[in-house]
Amino acid sequence: CGIVGYIGPRDAFPVLIKGLKQLEYRGYDSAGVALLNGSLETFRKKGKVADLEAFVEGKSPAGKVGIGHTRWATHGEPNDVNAHPHTSMNGIFSLVHNGIIENYAKLKSDLSEQGYVFKSETDTEVLANLIEYFYRQDEEMTSEDAVQLALSKVVGAYGIAVLCANEKEKIVVARKGSPLAIGLGVNEYFIASDALPIAEYTQQVIYLNDEDIAVLQRAGCTLKNVRNNPVSLTISNLDLEI
Ligand code: GLU
Repeated sequence: CGIVGYIGPRDAFPVLIKGLKQLEYRGYDSAGVALLNGSLETFRKKGKVADLEAFVEGKSPAGKVGIGHTRWATHGEPNDVNAHPHTSMNGIFSLVHNGIIENYAKLKSDLSEQGYVFKSETDTEVLANLIEYFYRQDEEMTSEDAVQLALSKVVGAYGIAVLCANEKEKIVVARKGSPLAIGLGVNEYFIASDALPIAEYTQQVIYLNDEDIAVLQRAGCTLKNVRNNPVSLTISNLDLEI
């Protein structure tokens, strides 16, 4: 339902929580965040963003890189285990996802044959494990290449934001049929599935086109598409009228 993300010099958690609250009006059943801070840390909860905040209280969630989600369940009932972010089996990837992976059942059975086990009932966890599967095929593989290979197998709609435990200064985002915008700050990026959470930080945005994959690092942003072709980057002025 709703996606937010942050990479830059600020503490990510308050930025993510504020963004998730700005997306609440869309409706949702669960909320969660993942932060990169030495390792991948995930907090998720059925209920409101306020319930997530209460759950996290005292656990001091640190990190300058993070992703967050409000879920509107399509595959699997609303509960803590089905809430996003979803972590891949070996803990390498964390993923938030809007939309539906239509061929998830086939992908899930293929991954099960490769030894993957699943904790949730979601289509999203299948994508997290598919990315990890490709990532582990080759030592030279980057997270964006693994995301690209995984998305080339996916039928359906998605807006995603992905963290990789081995690449601590990076967020990979992609979309098809589900909106995703990237706000450009000074050495920082704000990701959101609608412009509202971005508006207070910057007026400069990149609206991803269908099948675009963006790699966000503090030093810059690069784009390619799911066929692994380079894509040129267009910066727009944020228009909240849209
Ligand atoms: N299909 C995913 C799920 O059921 C994502 C739903 C959403 O867009 O929030 O978890």
